[in-house]
Amino acid sequence: MSSSLLSINGLSIGYSDTQSRPVAVVSSVDLSLAAGETLGLVGESGCGKSTLLLAIMGFYKAGLHRLGGDLQFMGEDPGVMPAADLQKLRGGRMALIPQNAGQSLTPTMKIENQLFEALRLHSDLPSGLWRQRCFSLLDRVQLPDPGELLKRYPHELSGGQQQRIAIAMALASEPDLLLLDEPTTGLDVTTQVHVLDLLREITAETHTAMIYVSHDIGVISAVCNKIAIMYAGELVELGDKNDLIDNPAHPYTKGLLDSIPRMHQDRLPVSLEGLQPQPGQRNLDNQCVFVERCSYARPVCQEHKPDSSTVSARQVKCHLASEALGWKSVEGRDPINKPTKFSRVVLRVKDLSVSYDRPSLKRWFTGREPSLVTQGIEFEIRRGEILGLVGESGSGKSTLLKTIAGLQKPFSGSLMLNDQFDLHHSVGSRNADCQQKIQLVFQNPDASLNPSQTVEVILARPIKLYFGSSDEAIRQQIDEMLTRVNLPLAYRTRYPGQLSGGEKQRIAIARALVAKPDLILCDEITSALDVSVQASIIKLLLRLRQESQLAILFVSHDLAVVDVLADQVVVLEQGRIRESGPVSRVFSDPGDAYTQSLLASVL
Ligand code: SF4
Repeated sequence: MSSSLLSINGLSIGYSDTQSRPVAVVSSVDLSLAAGETLGLVGESGCGKSTLLLAIMGFYKAGLHRLGGDLQFMGEDPGVMPAADLQKLRGGRMALIPQNAGQSLTPTMKIENQLFEALRLHSDLPSGLWRQRCFSLLDRVQLPDPGELLKRYPHELSGGQQQRIAIAMALASEPDLLLLDEPTTGLDVTTQVHVLDLLREITAETHTAMIYVSHDIGVISAVCNKIAIMYAGELVELGDKNDLIDNPAHPYTKGLLDSIPRMHQDRLPVSLEGLQPQPGQRNLDNQCVFVERCSYARPVCQEHKPDSSTVSARQVKCHLASEALGWKSVEGRDPINKPTKFSRVVLRVKDLSVSYDRPSLKRWFTGREPSLVTQGIEFEIRRGEILGLVGESGSGKSTLLKTIAGLQKPFSGSLMLNDQFDLHHSVGSRNADCQQKIQLVFQNPDASLNPSQTVEVILARPIKLYFGSSDEAIRQQIDEMLTRVNLPLAYRTRYPGQLSGGEKQRIAIARALVAKPDLILCDEITSALDVSVQASIIKLLLRLRQESQLAILFVSHDLAVVDVLADQVVVLEQGRIRESGPVSRVFSDPGDAYTQSLLASVL
């Protein structure tokens, strides 16, 4: 029996292909965790981190199974436990805090009943003491007024409150191990910082061990002592948080760190070239799994697979690990060159207020004035300029974006495009010229691209709609656009499902660009992407604005991305502008307390 709380040796997880050959999704992972240790598991989407996390709970997604290796939690293997024991273990000695607490809570059950259920299943506490325990759990996760809160349903709580309830439920059984799957990804930066502080306090006080899965090294470094980097199913670097971040030894770790945008930097983040190989495309026996994307690769890397070795108290899977410790970050990072002069105004917003109420009906039925979602908004965007719109959820960012796009009618104020088109009209009432000049790119390309249409059909539609070009001209424009967004021409015949997340977002950007707009509205377009893909999209947007003199309204909750990308910034809180001006001034010398609190939350 291992002295570790968790001990994983040579664990491989995968599926069998059509010829019954094993295909690894997670390959030969070695990992151990002692009581009270906190480990961050980092890597791009598809690297196998969630598969590994679920395997620790004895759960395998449909089609997946253990191909080999050993996994022990407190001396037992969850993968072979009888179902009844496994049910006791999950939510008992180990508990999962999922990404979206809102979806994991039962919508038809009051919070009190959900917590009672957790206590009934996973504690020996007599039912007469459950309510008292609920009060102490809510106090533990710093939720005020527990008596009132316990009576509510999940939808009556904010995202941050729901996530705290999910943490309280996980703590109900006083687990030895907490497993967290991107639990703060959907939260505002300020709420995220509070939740991370809370997790840090809880694990320090209760000596609970934690494995925290995220693609965000900033989040991981705020709560974990150790970091494990996963790439294409393999654990490529594992070590102390500070050592690993200050002096990464694996080229992939270096690449990940270089692709993170940071505040007040004068260089652009650098994206990793190429794509992570999918399971089945990985040569696991004879070469390094990172060789196709590694800028340090040598002939040996294509001939022999590196073993994991100990370098400076770290586990590293790279032939050149000891040399790599001395390497600097990627050379030749492009400087951030922001233009200082812009020509004519493209979008002029003056004293704009928006309400979801229908004013006449509200006055008729209640005698009251409509409630305003945003009030007195004023800003301008000029040709070639990028304006960042930042603020927490509910600040009115998306409402403003929808209003400019014509999906929401303004209540009062002025909204003009090119001083020519009045944008008071909804999108259906705007003329074709006006519609063509404003294009929208959504947060999630999976939801905005029709999965049954090829890239060619998706891109041809706006060209036909606005310009009625011939088939030959359309084909030519599509080829030009694919080249502009750095995608191969062969992608014309692909469906969205055959593209990676970053490629889909490039198609969504290309669809906006083929309309030859003057203004592009970007709604959190990088927030669902890995940092490396995000770096490539940032670079693409900067190049496109330079080439086409596009005006861009960029809505984001990520201040570091806005700092790198935008020229001007507008800070919104509860529908009002708290501060606006050049990004360089607002982010380095904020004059407003709310802006200061947002900036203090940047990890
Ligand atoms: Fe790069 Fe070679 Fe190291 Fe792999 S083994 S990460 S290819 S240097």
